[in-house]
Amino acid sequence: MNRLSSPRGPSAPDVFTIDVEEWFHAGVSAKVPEDLESWNRFTPRVEADMRKTFELLARYNVKATCFFLGWIAGRYPGLVRETADLGHEVASHGYGHRNVRKLTRTQFRQDIRAAKAAIEDALGGGVRGYRAPGFSITGESPWAFEEIVEAGYLYDSSVFPCAHGGSGIPNAPRQPYTIDTPSGPLTEFPATVVATPFGVQCPFGGGYFRLFPQWWIAALARRARARGFGVFWYMHPREIDPNHPRLPMPVGRRFKNYFHARSCGRKLESALLHGRFATFGELFDRRHAGSMAAPVPSAEIVAN
Ligand SMILES: [Zn+2]
Repeated sequence: MNRLSSPRGPSAPDVFTIDVEEWFHAGVSAKVPEDLESWNRFTPRVEADMRKTFELLARYNVKATCFFLGWIAGRYPGLVRETADLGHEVASHGYGHRNVRKLTRTQFRQDIRAAKAAIEDALGGGVRGYRAPGFSITGESPWAFEEIVEAGYLYDSSVFPCAHGGSGIPNAPRQPYTIDTPSGPLTEFPATVVATPFGVQCPFGGGYFRLFPQWWIAALARRARARGFGVFWYMHPREIDPNHPRLPMPVGRRFKNYFHARSCGRKLESALLHGRFATFGELFDRRHAGSMAAPVPSAEIVAN
């Protein structure tokens, strides 16, 4: 069965995405306090970090897709409106930065609906996209796509299409596709991943972005684009703020979350300089302006 939609062609644009959250949302580890009230104890940095990010994006005239936590939107509605006023797309990163693998279906439903309501309240308009914290939708949560549609989202960007530290969906398509859920179709923009000689599938953000040198990331991006699809980059506001406080966590996680933090700014600049960008919302509109590909049953995608 042909499970893919028509390719976007050799000139497909990159998408620059930001998961708009605080420095203390690093990872979806147990070290992030689950009690949302306790988050008020931490010194906030997201507004200042986002303003720095906006300046960087403006320097290269790039419009980003910004996945806001509902919790952030509730506290900083002005930041949500400012994001939209600057021409960036506002989307949802869930409400409480919960790992989907640790949620029941009901808890997931409540989280993504609360997020959509909080963000749309701040925005004064509709939100179309959702991304799960830590790309944490897996084969263990096939109901998630249906819930995302039911909540009123039109596209998702939560799939990591390879094995990923006990997470990921290894047999998912590696380019945009449509998932056929019992509640209707859902457009999926999976994380861009490229195989490296070390046997590691490399995405374009997070710890991998900090770990690999700039020339290496640029080479991988060229390889990804050679397949006819743009690169979907992702960053967090804390990555432009290397002096942010650190959460206590095991050495391995600490390395993944904080190693080479100071290199992020120039690597982001290099990505912005060499890419040609659209938002996920624009890609969604382009896909649906033409003929839609046959949707892929969600049960088939998550079957291992
Ligand atoms: Zn996140």
